[in-house]
Amino acid sequence: MARKMKAAVARGFGRPLAIEDVPVPEPGPGQVLVKVAACGVCHSDVHAVDGDWPLKPKIPFIPGHEGVGVVAELGPGVGRVREGDPVCVPWLHHACGTCEYCTTGWEPLCPGQTNTGYNVDGGYAEYVLAEAAFVGLLPKDPDFVAMAPIACAGVTTYKGVKETEARPGEWLIVSGVGGLGHVAVQYARAMALRVGAIDVADEKLELARSLGAEFAVNAHAGDAVAEVIERTGGGAHGVLATAASVASFTQAVAMARPRGTVALCGLPAGDFPTPIFDVVLKRITIRGSIVGNRQDLSEAVAFAASGQVKATVHSAPLEDVNDVFARLKAGEIDGRMALIP
Ligand code: NAD
Ligand code: ZN
Ligand code: ZN
Repeated sequence: MARKMKAAVARGFGRPLAIEDVPVPEPGPGQVLVKVAACGVCHSDVHAVDGDWPLKPKIPFIPGHEGVGVVAELGPGVGRVREGDPVCVPWLHHACGTCEYCTTGWEPLCPGQTNTGYNVDGGYAEYVLAEAAFVGLLPKDPDFVAMAPIACAGVTTYKGVKETEARPGEWLIVSGVGGLGHVAVQYARAMALRVGAIDVADEKLELARSLGAEFAVNAHAGDAVAEVIERTGGGAHGVLATAASVASFTQAVAMARPRGTVALCGLPAGDFPTPIFDVVLKRITIRGSIVGNRQDLSEAVAFAASGQVKATVHSAPLEDVNDVFARLKAGEIDGRMALIP
């Protein structure tokens, strides 16, 4: 008889997740079974369950792409990891390895990719399947809960900061100081950037200051754009947009310095107005930024392992997932939540 495990299952868009007993998956060739110690709750999981994006996940599915734990079983042909190794199971479950993106370090753009917690079951469960070639290797005896957010929030913002092309000593504005933004502030500081932060909640602004932001501005208070331009002496060299808010995108672009780059990470459903005149005359670059490649993940983990980046994480039992989603939507989470199966 198939072994069973506890999992949080999405059975329809916009519906609460159901805690169910489901079969433990079996690792095929090149795969590993990971015993989940914790799984961070990314706002993308909420978008996935709500069906917010044009490309929908499979239904039913188990969300979660910040799973961390130890390798419990190896499928045939796995040499990269051994049983007992601590790993994280990121968004990029698999990519083809041979397309023009995969062969140039851009595997998050692979048209043949599959994604953990979206079209492949994810980490809101006692066990998760992963491709051995795509897991992130964690340091020995890690603090699993602290490491969980690095699997997505960490790699995404580390890459996003690099994508702004802001250089040491230059200004980076982090818009949205949630799960992504609060680690973004730390990656940017570790990369010797000067950091300002924007959010709509005063506690988040306080968190950003405590993590090294030189100033923090409430997006809704007064003229936030004017304040950023003044504090940065003419606008930010880089802006990292991480809020799940459409309105924050136009504001992010307005904060850029001439020749600046705005890297968009947030993925709220919708479109935002872009002022053509300003973008052209200020020669502003607006680019998307989607997670990071495997090397980015390994570097993002190294920053966390060395203590330069430490996620603020609160844990809750897997059974509380619907309550955690509600709090995330309401902007009430300080840092990141991790679910413990
Ligand atoms: P989160 O809910 O933890 O954080 C969002 C933060 O934005 C909150 O602190 C909230 O107060 C703040 N906010 C809300 N409205 C704002 C506004 N108008 N201006 C500034 N800040 C505002 O979410 P998260 O897990 O950090 O994810 C954020 C977004 O990033 C989501 O849309 C998610 O899907 C997306 N995401 C993208 C990638 C990628 O690779 N591009 C990876 C992970 C997550
Ligand atoms: Zn994510
Ligand atoms: Zn590919």
